[in-house]
Amino acid sequence: MNYEINKFGGASVNSASAVKNMADIVEHYSHKPVVIVVSAMGKTTNSLELLVPRSGVLPADWKETLAKVRDYHYGIINELFANDSTEVEQKVERLFHLLEEQLQQPSFDYNYSYDQIVSVGELISTTIVSEYLTYKGVANKWMDVRSIVKTDATYREGRVDWELTQSCVNKILKPAVDECGIVVTQGFIAGAMQGSTTTLGREGSDYSAAILAFCLEAEAMVIWKDVPGFLNADPKFFSNTQKINTIPYSEAIELAYYGASIIHPKTVKPLQNKEIPLYVKSFLAPQSEGSVIKTATHIDPETPLYIFKNNQVLLSIMPRDFSFIAEDNLQKIFGEFAEIGIKVNMIQNSALSFSVCIDSHHLVFDKLIPSLQKDFHVRYNEGLQLITIRYYTPEIITEIVGHRKIYLEQHSRITAQIIVDR
Ligand code: ASP
Ligand code: MG
Repeated sequence: MNYEINKFGGASVNSASAVKNMADIVEHYSHKPVVIVVSAMGKTTNSLELLVPRSGVLPADWKETLAKVRDYHYGIINELFANDSTEVEQKVERLFHLLEEQLQQPSFDYNYSYDQIVSVGELISTTIVSEYLTYKGVANKWMDVRSIVKTDATYREGRVDWELTQSCVNKILKPAVDECGIVVTQGFIAGAMQGSTTTLGREGSDYSAAILAFCLEAEAMVIWKDVPGFLNADPKFFSNTQKINTIPYSEAIELAYYGASIIHPKTVKPLQNKEIPLYVKSFLAPQSEGSVIKTATHIDPETPLYIFKNNQVLLSIMPRDFSFIAEDNLQKIFGEFAEIGIKVNMIQNSALSFSVCIDSHHLVFDKLIPSLQKDFHVRYNEGLQLITIRYYTPEIITEIVGHRKIYLEQHSRITAQIIVDR
């Protein structure tokens, strides 16, 4: 069978009218048999993150936050289903009930709680989407992806058990999509062997879609976005963006690695391994061409590509005992990062100091810095921007940096990275 995977992100289902548009796309542009992978609605994941207990303590305003999440979803339901919403409301209510149960027994393990709580966003969104498709007369089957995509118990960054996932796809997903034509399931979340829920990292729905594409040997994967395709810069940061029509897999991997927010870093590799093309298309203009990531020799058109990452923290780590920053110290430093689950965006090493650029996160200040301080002097600067430019020229760097202070700069033949003040 020629399976297709379609992934819809939070922005494509952030209101009742967005869900209606998304359902139209499924009806008219998705090629059956198709698996529809959906993220949490709008900014729900951000809101649910606010509910996660820290050191076993719920935030003081958890009830208000929860009420907001609930009202938001019920607002969408009421608009979508007119007078016919009893069934979907019951299903969604059950999910909110589970969420409240989670919150009533706060755990000390932040990463574990995070996944149990935040995953509910995707369960709710897919329930609403699936019910709405049915309501419109588009036959589909809702599936719990936690019984299909299996990971280890690394919470907030579940590592996929490919063998088990492949066998669950064969046994559960394939027959369902063969029979029904359309399966609606969650991105971002997965199931651990012990029956708990894991997540694949923020923005992980793309990766979920790629995992399913790989295991189904899909003919194509389509990501529906609020931009016309793969742009050479995020339009939030840049006014003169240019659409890239074709991107080789290897280039897409590089871009995602450097933080291009259009695509989750782990997404491309599984697709590349089976040469499954990845189309990036606009849910606002579904008939237009978009971009494709596939086997190709170079990007088309060839143009500089810009990636901006804000809220960066630059740590400077120096041994207390005047030893050099060499293998043993590096091992210790990276061990702390790995254990706490903090990703490194850029590093620079000198004899006496090691600089690391990372995203700002409370764990950096609550855990990472205090742990590093046992063995090292740590200095840091906050509120910085990391700029990555592929296919740069010196003129482009000068223009982008302007009068801002440069904290660190690294150039390779193709890529320049610069850390500056905002
Ligand atoms: N809902 C999750 C997030 O916002 C996953 C995703 O959207 O891909 O990070
Ligand atoms: Mg998203």
